Amino acid sequence: MKGREPAVRRTALVTGANRGIGLEVCRQLAHRGLRVVLTGRDGAATRAAAAALRGEGLDVLDAILDVRQEGAAARLAERLRQAGIRVDVLVNNAAVYPEGALLEAPPEAFREALATNFAGALWTCRAFVPAMLAAGHGRVVNVSSDYGSFGAGLEGPAAYSLSKAALNALTVKLAAAVSGDVKVNAAHPGWVRTRMGGPASFRSPAARTPEAAARGIVWLATLSSRGPNGGFFRDHRRIPW
Ligand code: NDP
Repeated sequence: MKGREPAVRRTALVTGANRGIGLEVCRQLAHRGLRVVLTGRDGAATRAAAAALRGEGLDVLDAILDVRQEGAAARLAERLRQAGIRVDVLVNNAAVYPEGALLEAPPEAFREALATNFAGALWTCRAFVPAMLAAGHGRVVNVSSDYGSFGAGLEGPAAYSLSKAALNALTVKLAAAVSGDVKVNAAHPGWVRTRMGGPASFRSPAARTPEAAARGIVWLATLSSRGPNGGFFRDHRRIPW
């Protein structure tokens, strides 16, 4: 159309995306026309998940990323940069769910939860947000949980709850540090029928599908420049920190 800027092709990177909500976020982002870098820690599972989406006609690359490994996200960012790919949208989805109460859970539960659910997101933000700031555009979505909400009582297994509260704090802190059209928000997907939310952890299976849960995350990942920064949302509604 005359006088109209050509649409910019955006690239999104999603962590822990070989299954569950992350995989569905990749599918929905690709359906919206974004190029997607689907990442996971397991090479075979990650390649298979990306191949399945490519089989649906979607533009999906795959890359191995174990978010616990300090430096891995920075190395991936550099590899993508050398390939001419700048990440415009980062979805920190990877997480583990160690069980146990505060005074009883083994130390490894706290180490694993904090290293994955909190530090994993911190390393990816440090790897990918500087280029967003330089470009003046970017979206970060931290997939959190109401178990990490002070306002909702910090319920759930202790290590998981503390790690998601820390992820929420990271969201607030990073949102205050960004400028330009860069937005950082957190999402609670609800109780979702995945391996984490499935019958293995609870007496009854979750009612919510990954498709429904992913919509609120994708909304935050594709916010217009008028959208919020520094909020915590379930679907399109704010929820308390
Ligand atoms: P799943 O357990 O189905 O998937 C978790 C994903 O994270 C898997 O792909 C897993 O990979 C990946 N992962 C774990 N550790 C790492 C790591 N070190 N590096 C890279 N990837 C890793 O969970 P959901 O899809 O249900 O959860 C997605 C997000 O939603 C999480 O942040 C979770 O906390 C949140 N959430 C989920 C709820 C639910 O009811 N399901 C409720 C509230 C929040 P692998 O296959 O290799 O293990």
